[in-house]
Amino acid sequence: MKHVVRLYVDHPLGAGQTVPLDRDHANRLFNVMRMGEGDGLRLFNGRDGEWAATVAQAGKRGGVVVCEGLVAEDRMPADVWLCFAPIKKDRTEFIVEKATELGAARIVPMITRFTNSDRVRVDRLQAHALAAIEQCGGTIQPEVSEPVKFDALMRDWASERRIMFCDETAEAGVLPEQPGPWAIFIGPEGGFSDDERAQLAEVGHTVSLGPRILRADTAAVAALTLWQQKLGDWV
Ligand code: SAM
Repeated sequence: MKHVVRLYVDHPLGAGQTVPLDRDHANRLFNVMRMGEGDGLRLFNGRDGEWAATVAQAGKRGGVVVCEGLVAEDRMPADVWLCFAPIKKDRTEFIVEKATELGAARIVPMITRFTNSDRVRVDRLQAHALAAIEQCGGTIQPEVSEPVKFDALMRDWASERRIMFCDETAEAGVLPEQPGPWAIFIGPEGGFSDDERAQLAEVGHTVSLGPRILRADTAAVAALTLWQQKLGDWV
């Protein structure tokens, strides 16, 4: 099957709508992908669904595409957040990319007691989420929040959002089959502190991801897989 280029644009989409392309888009389509006038692609903006479109003008510094027809309505992700403690830059980017592909609705970097990396570039992480959503066929990219301290996050927590507390010390603990909004909590390389663990165990559902200690990035992927399989849009 021919690969179809999918592009997120911050512009209204509709039948016959012309959409200007900025320099980055033009470089990607016409230089990197070697596309030209008359070639087809897909556009989405997170609001108006996914549209088949055709390149009307191709230039070095910009271009124009025209929407032809609606291909699909927006696909809302299941209501699950991933709250994780940032780790090394490339591994944090991996977490954001995989969480997007696995259908997280929101990604929340949280600063816990033992978080050893607090240099989080939200704009860079959001760009990774955008690239992942273009690649994986979703139309709504997850919002990457500004980093928040664990205590502040818990203080303002809305009780209707259930917590899946991934605890490597738990001997057992499975995800209950309760629908509704959820959030997955993954700790840093050093794990959650005793205080944090006690708080999460009290308000959340403690879940084991098996008898081995997983790296935080592996744990994020495993937890989202488990959640999606039981409660999310895989069922
Ligand atoms: N502090 C731990 C240690 O060094 O023994 C390791 C923490 S682990 C690298 C990072 C996070 O991944 C944990 O805080 C937990 O949220 C999650 N995690 C890793 N393995 C897990 C498991 N088997 N079950 C549940 N959660 C796990």
